[in-house]
Amino acid sequence: MHELSRDPQSTLAEVIRLLWERGEAVALTGAGISAESGIPTFRDKGGLWDTYDPTVYASIEVYRRDPTLYWTIRGDFIRHYDQYQPNPGHLALADLESLGVLRRVITQNIDGLHTKAGSPDVIELHGSIREIFCLSCGRQYQAPHVPPGLPPRCESCNGVLKPNTVLFGESLPVDALRQAQEEASTRAMMLVIGTSVNVYPAAALPEIARRHGAVIVEVNPERAFPLVDFWLPGQAGTVLPRLAEGVRKLAARGN
Ligand code: NAD
Repeated sequence: MHELSRDPQSTLAEVIRLLWERGEAVALTGAGISAESGIPTFRDKGGLWDTYDPTVYASIEVYRRDPTLYWTIRGDFIRHYDQYQPNPGHLALADLESLGVLRRVITQNIDGLHTKAGSPDVIELHGSIREIFCLSCGRQYQAPHVPPGLPPRCESCNGVLKPNTVLFGESLPVDALRQAQEEASTRAMMLVIGTSVNVYPAAALPEIARRHGAVIVEVNPERAFPLVDFWLPGQAGTVLPRLAEGVRKLAARGN
């Protein structure tokens, strides 16, 4: 394992070279990449689950009984959805995709920031908070445009609204999971960015990639995944633009 802290420049240069030479990477992102956009992570100190018990506030069972709890902690985010913008980390991943070395972004995030940053065809494993639908008649709404009220109710049938996100107790979208597993088992590299690699089945993806021989690079201020080949400690918004800049230089030189 190489560590940026031991020899920062050469580790970074090595990852840039591998990205350029292999040209076949997939990224798995988590809440950490959006922290610099002002969206709290879950499990870090000060994260959402520090204050709210996820088994209560984000469980489908509780949601069916009383959706008010969920809307108490997520309503503001949904109603101010347009205020949250991609940061240099999201933009650098889109850049790496346009340079042809990153083939797909898989995210556990529900915030839609990769798509806002210009990443095409993002695999959203846990759904998207911008899509909201009525549990009774299926009418679709799009954040930030939801009716007032706690919980907001459908303007057509007065049914309860729910974002199209995976709550605890719900299954992941089958197609998204299948595509993510396919990406993990076929790409030569995986960038594991801003995730505590805790929530399965998403957390199995780096293991799958590794079993299939991929080089694993972690971008996170803390080591979260033990089986990495390279750890680039630091914030995604700082480290990822350096990667993109390095690949861009190699591309300009044509080597
Ligand atoms: P997590 O809270 O468990 O872990 C966050 C990780 O990000 C930690 O390892 C932390 O060290 C790292 N981190 C913090 N700041 C960082 C930064 N600036 N740059 C790089 N890394 C940084 O989050 P997770 O692993 O994504 O947990 C999975 C669950 O979190 C999923 O269910 C997901 O849907 C949900 N979630 C999503 C959002 C969002 O959409 N933005 C926000 C909170 C939680």
